Amino acid sequence: MAVANEHQKIAVIAGAGPAGLTAALELLRRSDIKPVVIEMDGQVGGISRTVNYRGNRMDIGGHRFFSKSDWVMRWWQDILPVAEEQDTAGNPLKITYQRQSRDLLPSRRSPSSADAVMLIRQRLSRIFYRRRFFDYPLKLNASTVRNMGLLETLRIGLSYGHAQFSHRLPEISLEDFFVNRFGDRLYRTFFKDYTEKVWGVRCQEISAEWGAQRIKGLSVAKALAHAVARPFRSGEETSQKATETSLIERFLYPKFGPGQMWETVAQQVADQGGDIHLRHRVVGVERQGQDIKAIDVLDLATGSTRRIPCDFFVSTMPVSELTPMLKPEDGDVIRIANHLPYRDFMTVGLLLKNMHGAPNSGSSSANNGMPPDNWIYIQEPDVKIGRLQIFNNWSPALVADPKTIWLGLEYFCKAGDELWSLSDDRFIDFAAGELEKIGMIQRSAVMDGTVVRVPKAYPAYFGEYSEFGAVRDYLEGFSNLYPIGRNGMHRYNNQDHSMLAANAAVSAMLTGGQGKSDIWQINAEEDYHEEIEAVA
Ligand SMILES: Cc1cc2nc3c(=O)[nH]c(=O)nc-3n(C[C@H](O)[C@H](O)[C@H](O)COP(=O)(O)OP(=O)(O)OC[C@H]3O[C@@H](n4cnc5c(N)ncnc54)[C@H](O)[C@@H]3O)c2cc1C
Repeated sequence: MAVANEHQKIAVIAGAGPAGLTAALELLRRSDIKPVVIEMDGQVGGISRTVNYRGNRMDIGGHRFFSKSDWVMRWWQDILPVAEEQDTAGNPLKITYQRQSRDLLPSRRSPSSADAVMLIRQRLSRIFYRRRFFDYPLKLNASTVRNMGLLETLRIGLSYGHAQFSHRLPEISLEDFFVNRFGDRLYRTFFKDYTEKVWGVRCQEISAEWGAQRIKGLSVAKALAHAVARPFRSGEETSQKATETSLIERFLYPKFGPGQMWETVAQQVADQGGDIHLRHRVVGVERQGQDIKAIDVLDLATGSTRRIPCDFFVSTMPVSELTPMLKPEDGDVIRIANHLPYRDFMTVGLLLKNMHGAPNSGSSSANNGMPPDNWIYIQEPDVKIGRLQIFNNWSPALVADPKTIWLGLEYFCKAGDELWSLSDDRFIDFAAGELEKIGMIQRSAVMDGTVVRVPKAYPAYFGEYSEFGAVRDYLEGFSNLYPIGRNGMHRYNNQDHSMLAANAAVSAMLTGGQGKSDIWQINAEEDYHEEIEAVA
């Protein structure tokens, strides 16, 4: 492990997710510092990995590849170019994500094979509620009124109108925040259950400030406000249509799921002289004052531990794990780090022969009843499932047999809770039962299943998080420590934010630490995040 020549500097990197691998490749491209990546899992990619189950591939969460950053878009395309056949008639390719449209820079090289490519995918996702499909973003159109019933639609409208004149003050909780903006009825219909499912905390217990910070740019909220208010405005039908067409979301997606990107990057890291140690875990940090001197690494296969001296330490592991390893003198720093909140996540992969079309599943449902969506928000209060991924619609290459339907049933939970602790077999059975209950499948159509558990999938922003600044300042005090990435910074990062932080960390390493503290500014503007925010 970690053989470098005597004078070569070493950067130990904890974690082979997007942040760690970007840092490793950038170090190799821009310096002679040797990256030594330590990854506790058996594969690379972190949360953005692709899990291969008997030839069927699962994307944990459904990863759209889109970034406002040209650097990131370029970087991805240099690793996996866009499939040539997607580039129609030489026109610039357009992608659109969360109401932001951009031309795609042409790939700088041709794909090395028909498989080593990214596809351009068009998004469809709907809300499933009252055993029916609602458009997403929600529109106040004939289909919504039909689904809701005229009376309920009127009630929602009245409740929304009431909220415009009578505010809950002071606005303390997330519930107050929602009710003030959307009315009690709409809050109870579309926000309450789902938010509580996602975060496992009642909306009354989440601060309104959190809502304001996290929800302000949210598309459902905007869409709902827009949808509810639309009938009271006039003369915007034509421009509305034009806007809607331009907002059809298109994003990049590696043919074999997000993990393909990170497996390719890992290969390049290895080819260019970096080390990647899978099934190894960072378990300790040796420091002298404010300098990190060495990292203790446990080999999960043999149980043996060894110490790797280092010049830099890049940590993408959770702040709550890293901080105690540094043995802070300040008890408050330990307390806050130990209590940082997280939400955990489970996905059940379910292979089926066919599905039931729900009553209004749409004419584009396939012969085997598979809905056309990439994913579906399940708003039904009588089941625990939060979202349903239809992997066939992300990329047909994710599915071994195109005649089958390959689903991901997503559950938000807490590691160790009742759901998390069920055996895989029982969980698969439970999850299939939930889909049957809401009328989407018959259990007899299930051919196979598997379970993936993702601890700390969501760094959460309540509880001790309000004191996070003390931990950040403490970590910032180390001369050669670079905490980056989603859990590394306890930030609601998408892949691109993690990559930008990694790139900035490498720049700082190469300039004697210049710009080190600016890394915390990346993704601080909070205006675009993964989809969970749009509904929670
Ligand atoms: C449901 C869901 C949907 C998402 N959708 C999107 C999307 O559409 N688009 C998008 O861009 N992003 C999306 N994301 C976010 C994306 O998954 C993350 O931003 C990205 O994976 C973060 O990369 P990272 O390297 O910072 O962290 P991670 O992916 O968490 O990687 C960290 C790595 O560190 C390893 N590790 C942890 N502790 C140790 C240790 N002690 N020793 C060794 N290794 C350790 C872990 O095993 C892991 O491999 C989504 C996330 C979720 C949960």
